[in-house]
Amino acid sequence: MRIMIESKGISKVYPDGTEALREVSFDVSEGKSCSIIGPSGCGKTTLLFIFSGILKPTSGKALIEGKEVVSPSKEVALILQDYGLFPWKTVYENVSLGLELRRYSKKERKRTVSSLLEDLGLKGFENHYPKQLSGGMQQRIGFARAMALNPRILLMDEPLSSLDALTRETLQNFLLSLWKNNGMTMLLVTHNIEEAVFLGEKIVVLSSRPGSVAEIIENHKVGDVNYRNTEGFLEKCREVRRSIEDGVT
Ligand code: ADP
Repeated sequence: MRIMIESKGISKVYPDGTEALREVSFDVSEGKSCSIIGPSGCGKTTLLFIFSGILKPTSGKALIEGKEVVSPSKEVALILQDYGLFPWKTVYENVSLGLELRRYSKKERKRTVSSLLEDLGLKGFENHYPKQLSGGMQQRIGFARAMALNPRILLMDEPLSSLDALTRETLQNFLLSLWKNNGMTMLLVTHNIEEAVFLGEKIVVLSSRPGSVAEIIENHKVGDVNYRNTEGFLEKCREVRRSIEDGVT
């Protein structure tokens, strides 16, 4: 299978001398999902920013389809924890923003946005403002906006961590179906073990800072919404927890 995302010995030292990442290597094949988990401050966000073309590694390479990432690309969508919505824009305007910036016609924008809002269960909320909606709905708007440009790669930085436990589980199910229906390659940063195991076919465990790969755990059962209720799921969570504890120094 074709490799879509490859981290090739990535190290990052910030200008103030903070060493965030050390020689991080892993890859994700096309259409697969991968979770990155590790203690707070181990460089997870730094790694995602490198893959989005916002930051440059100090050494090593971030490759997408074999090409080095040098700037942000339309193929890659980044979803952040705080939803990244503009409070003064309506739901419709927030979702259509990327299309507007890329000069899609009004008609094309309307077609894409309406069908996305329908798919994501947001129909009827076009003229609402983000503040009028729950956190779970706001994050779905964030997903809709990312999906509008039909990205092939979805990078997510703790996208569900400010939601309550129940909404979080609902949105994990939602993300699972979004990923399965769209054939995207997904890289999810989380510090939640259950989330990493529910959504990542591969789980990259990072050690504490400077983040380096402590272990890569294969997790082939991902894809079934009932996986969460199985003994295999609990066993995998235990395995990831042990690995994180071993990597924390
Ligand atoms: P995580 O997402 O795993 O919590 P981050 O990638 O946000 O980790 O940060 C990794 C380390 O790099 C942390 O110690 C953080 O304080 C530091 N860091 C992040 N951004 C900068 C920066 N611009 N300058 C200096 N240090 C930074």
